[in-house]
Parts: sequence; structure tokens; C-alpha cells
Amino acid sequence: MNNVPIITISEVNKSYEVGNNKLHVLKGLNLTINEGEMISIMGASGSGKSTLLNILGILDNYDSGAYHLNNTFIQNLSEKKAAYYRNQYIGFVFQSFNLISFKNAMENVALPLYYQKVSRRKRNAIAMEYLDKMGLKDWATHMPNELSGGQKQRIAIARAMISKPKVILADEPTGALDSKTSLEVMDIFDEINAQGITIIIVTHERDIAERTKRIIHLKDGVIEQDYYKLN
Ligand code: ADP
Ligand code: MG
Repeated sequence: MNNVPIITISEVNKSYEVGNNKLHVLKGLNLTINEGEMISIMGASGSGKSTLLNILGILDNYDSGAYHLNNTFIQNLSEKKAAYYRNQYIGFVFQSFNLISFKNAMENVALPLYYQKVSRRKRNAIAMEYLDKMGLKDWATHMPNELSGGQKQRIAIARAMISKPKVILADEPTGALDSKTSLEVMDIFDEINAQGITIIIVTHERDIAERTKRIIHLKDGVIEQDYYKLN
């Protein structure tokens, strides 16, 4: 693995306003992730995992510290710039798939290209290639409610991959799947990672975390452990 940082977080703090109170969620986090790493972030519910992932994905701002993504300083960006960097670098995968219920599998996969103003014909053709890679070509015209959880997650992964991200951020991607299907999704992440794409997986399942080389434990907004598995 090369040692080129793709993500650098230094002394990042994040609080939420809750009524008249402040909830200090991330407490001076420091974290460097190199290009091509596959890591998992573990921690109890409420420990700040999603908050961290949302900051990394430029879906949310932080209060102090610094976040660099591929050497770009990410802080208080306009929505337009945030969207630009997200499209350029990031693919998201969520526990609940977040597919659009009234669009078929192919249209869901093609969606990021719609936002990039790619013509319908071209984006659908590219979406078919990505569906094919996920073994789902025959399901292209099916609606999400006709698909299994595993199929929906593979469609969500194809959608994340279609804009050729450098980093995949997955928030509990196997949380709604049975254990066999979960392992199949992890196999797909392995293949994607083998192409050099950095993958960050939030999970509270030990056997999912064990599939990644590096494991980070968050506890009450601080990194409690950060280690590489020996194998
Ligand atoms: P995790 O993903 O580890 O379960 P989160 O990052 O979602 O944790 O949440 C960390 C803490 O911040 C929790 O106490 C949660 O209730 C709180 N929180 C998360 N998002 C918000 C928000 N938008 N406004 C207020 N509090 C929030
Ligand atoms: Mg969460």
C-alpha cells in the first residue's frame, strides 16, 4: 500500500445545539487515512460514527480543527463547492440503501450522472455496465420494492461507484442484511478496494470489522483504539 494520505483530520471538534445546550460529539479527533486503505469504524450507538462520516462526506460542517480531502482544505464550503467535491471524490452507501422508490434499478444507478448532466441514453448505458458488474443486469427494470435487501445494496454500491469516487463511505452497510448477504457485500467491497479505492465502513458488527485490515474504535467522541490487524 502506498502512504499517500487521502483523508486527514486534525483536532476536529463538532457539537450539536440541542435546545439551549451543546452536545459535544467529536472531541478533538485526529485521523489519517491513506489512499487504498479499507478500514472500519466501530463504537457504541451515539459515539459519533455517523457524525464523523457525514463530515468526511462533506454532508456536514465541523466547528474547529481541519479536514483535508485529497489535499483540499474542506471547511464551510458553499453547497455548490461541497457538491462538487462530493461528486469528485465520494461515494456513499447507507444502511437503508436510500434508493428512489419510483425509479427502477438502472435509473437509480444512473442518478449521479443525471446530476452531472450526462444524457439519458449515455447514463443509462453506463448504469447497465455497473449493474452488470454487480450481477444485476437482468434486474435493470425492476423497482426497488421488487428487490431483496442484498440486491438493493448492490444497486446502491453501483450508484456509489458510477461517478468513479476515490473514497467510499459506508454507514452500517450491512445493518439491514442477513449474515450471508452481509458477507457478500463485504466481498464486493474487497473487489472495489482491490481497484485502489479507499473504503471506510461504519459498523457495530465485529465480524464485519474483522474483514478490514484497520479498525478504529470511537468512544464518546474520541478515538479509543486505532490498530492494524495482524494476519
Ligand atoms: P452514531 O452514528 O455513533 O450512533 P451519531 O454520530 O449519529 O452517533 O450521534 C452522536 C450523538 O449526536 C448522539 O448523541 C446523537 O443523538 C447526536 N446527534 C446526531 N445528530 C444530531 C443532530 N443533527 N442534532 C442533534 N444531535 C444530534
Ligand atoms: Mg450512526
